[in-house]
Amino acid sequence: MPNKLIDTHCHLDFSDFDHDRGEIITRSKAIGIDAIILPAIARDNWAAVKTLAANHPEIHPAYGLHPCFLDRHMLADLQQLDLWLAENPAIAVGECGLDYRDQDADRELQQQLFSGQLALAEKYGLPIIIHAVKALSDVISLLKKYPKVGGVLHSFSGSIEQAEILYQQGFVFGIGGPVSWENARKIKRMVAQLPLDAIVLESDAPDQPPENYRGQRNQPDWIVDVVEEIARLHSISSSEVAELTTANAERVFNL
Ligand SMILES: [Zn+2]
Repeated sequence: MPNKLIDTHCHLDFSDFDHDRGEIITRSKAIGIDAIILPAIARDNWAAVKTLAANHPEIHPAYGLHPCFLDRHMLADLQQLDLWLAENPAIAVGECGLDYRDQDADRELQQQLFSGQLALAEKYGLPIIIHAVKALSDVISLLKKYPKVGGVLHSFSGSIEQAEILYQQGFVFGIGGPVSWENARKIKRMVAQLPLDAIVLESDAPDQPPENYRGQRNQPDWIVDVVEEIARLHSISSSEVAELTTANAERVFNL
């Protein structure tokens, strides 16, 4: 693949990559991945994300409080995040959002943390990286209070109607491994209907590997399979997908 690609969501700081992180970064560069966005998940990994980005010019850090790690957050982390963003350059705020999969999760705390991070994205003029699982309608209503904030709906699997609302507010959609899953008919149908200026690529490594690698630890260079599936769904070439998604990511993240 000769074109430049951007992986807008990859957790390369996770320990899953401790034994071969350097190799993975080299391989990603070799297939044309020009930039990798690394969203932090909790206050205790901001420093690791910062260090990794400082050591690799193609890695861009985002800082946030991920809704699936509630036991690692407290409300005061929002003030810490504010201080951190004031001192450390970031490409975005995130990963943040709402995840209602676990019935017992404290939804009110998730919403407070998410609103606080939306306010910080607004304050610092940064895009936001949103994780939304079984919670898109609440995400959409919280976003209404921050009309100036745009960014990425990561691993988007909502309806085309929800996509339309979010697109109007300046959001694009992170599409990764799931679009290549054989049984993912709903996602394929939705991605086929998304406007091409609203799609960005993401590996979400180490999670969500493409169909050909199901069950394995995901890695950024496998994003090529995602490019090919989007090309098939939109009846365009893989290089057009690379070109368009790269331009979209550059626009949203001011790269
Ligand atoms: Zn993530």
